Amino acid sequence: MKTTRRLAAVTALAMLAACATQAPTHAPDKDYGHAWVAHSSDYAALTRQVYAVATRDLERFVADKSWTAIPGQAGAENLPPAVILDVDETVINNVDFQLGFERPFTDRKLEMWDREHVAKPVPGVIEFIKAAKAAGVAVFYLTNRPCEKYEDEAAACPQKQTVIDGIRELGLDVEPEFVSLSYERPEWTKEKLIRRQAIGENYRVIMLFGDDFADFVQCARSSFHPPCTEPATRASRAADVLTYEHYWGNGWYILPGPMHGSWTSVR
Ligand SMILES: [Mg+2]
Repeated sequence: MKTTRRLAAVTALAMLAACATQAPTHAPDKDYGHAWVAHSSDYAALTRQVYAVATRDLERFVADKSWTAIPGQAGAENLPPAVILDVDETVINNVDFQLGFERPFTDRKLEMWDREHVAKPVPGVIEFIKAAKAAGVAVFYLTNRPCEKYEDEAAACPQKQTVIDGIRELGLDVEPEFVSLSYERPEWTKEKLIRRQAIGENYRVIMLFGDDFADFVQCARSSFHPPCTEPATRASRAADVLTYEHYWGNGWYILPGPMHGSWTSVR
């Protein structure tokens, strides 16, 4: 009896330890990241702060034709100015989906939820985008939502229209050529560098916006695609924070991303 009880206690301890080290399969009661985005005024104040700073920077970066927010972009002096924004948690606030979806995440769950719900803005983004357009700046939306053909639907990439609809639901005008999804073209992987550079061929990119480190820094993911040759690590990303130190809040504007993102998978 004693042995059985001790065995039960050891098993319970082992299970507790396992719980502590495994990623949760559903949103736990005390998930501060999700609760913070959903309920704190701090979140809304912070996103408004980011977009207010960027709005103040618009005039300066439009005027300075030598400025670009893409490291290494050359010969852009006479190109028209543009900004690049990520979509999820940068333009569209998906916290209601994040709080409620049945784990694990799939892109299709977000797609289906999005079709049935009116998009909510990240606080401050609408005002910024209107200011950018008023200043003659092109606005590009670059998301890693993937193009995927569903067997039961005719469109090759139904997700693109869903993203466009979401942006329009915020009251923003957008045309399809200003929206790119991953795998919309074979070379458009989840390494956003490729698409940033493609935009940089025709525009002087004055600002980048995202809620993920990889919306700014190349080769910052644990899963990597060409031209990246190895997985990013916590150490490599920490070094890159300093490598690109002068861009933060100065051409690069990062929003908080406590609910999900490439930070959760690097080791
Ligand atoms: Mg995002």
